[in-house]
Amino acid sequence: MLAGRCRWCDGDAEVFLPYARLSLCRTHFKEYIVRRVRRTIEKYRMIKEGERVLVALSGGKDSLVLLHVLLAMKNSNDPKLSLNCDLEAVTLDLGIRGYSEKCVSVACAYCDEFNVPHYTVKLIELAGFTIDDMASQRRPACSVCGVVKRYVLNKVGVEMGFDRLAMGHNLDDEAAVLLSNYLSANVELLSRQHPVLPAREGMVSRIKPLFEVSESETSMYAQFQGLTPVDGKCPYAVTPSTHRFKRALNALEEEAPATKIKMVRGFIERVKPLLDNIETPPGKCAVCGYPSSSGICGFCRLKKAYGPM
Ligand code: SF4
Ligand SMILES: [Zn+2]
Ligand SMILES: [Zn+2]
Repeated sequence: MLAGRCRWCDGDAEVFLPYARLSLCRTHFKEYIVRRVRRTIEKYRMIKEGERVLVALSGGKDSLVLLHVLLAMKNSNDPKLSLNCDLEAVTLDLGIRGYSEKCVSVACAYCDEFNVPHYTVKLIELAGFTIDDMASQRRPACSVCGVVKRYVLNKVGVEMGFDRLAMGHNLDDEAAVLLSNYLSANVELLSRQHPVLPAREGMVSRIKPLFEVSESETSMYAQFQGLTPVDGKCPYAVTPSTHRFKRALNALEEEAPATKIKMVRGFIERVKPLLDNIETPPGKCAVCGYPSSSGICGFCRLKKAYGPM
């Protein structure tokens, strides 16, 4: 369907959003997304007045969009949009030759441009190994990478005293994980799926402000705002297992717009409360003291096996 005229200013529309039957020009599309994320933050009480928020900035599209949208709120004079918080960003240098350098340089340049305090954490310094080392040991790079990202970003958030760690997961990511957890009837993972995970001992509160913004909307936002994410793919990228769930959900969305958002909101509002007593808080890692559901956390086990002797 052609976009036609912008509903808000009658200018040429560049976007048509089928689920809202809404055509918008570039300027108003940005405003629409910022407003929507602002409402999400309000509704789920993601960020409170004056809190310190650490944005996980990988250099990929969604993380750049997330920081851009949060900055738009922070700099807004509109009382409905403005968000009084302290924004900083962190990038984890995973040590993937030919790729991590690009991610770090995109993130640094972006934070310089927008005047955002930025930290780079090198995995080699923290753990004594890189993702390249893991791959050369025939360890599945992405699963190791998942463990170290979760651990290191949380550790930085806790040690630097941040109130929130903001992640760039979008609606398509959230819906695909939800469908995957439903299909495998993984009640434990379902009980932990929420756009706001509260802080507890050794854990910074984790939030997903973009979880109601679709993948195609973050792509259009990045393109219209001239954001240039890291060029090229990680050499270890494989088609993630959630890819087929995304494809299935896209087909459903095509036939019935708003399927994904209804599914995710329905889960949070009506299913998740029924699962709240299932979640058991993890114990502590015997080595580092951070939360872990087994005696020694995944990160410490990797460090022991592959870190310096
Ligand atoms: S593709 Fe895999 S190894 Fe590469 S950055 Fe992503 S999760 Fe890490
Ligand atoms: Zn307009
Ligand atoms: Zn540990």
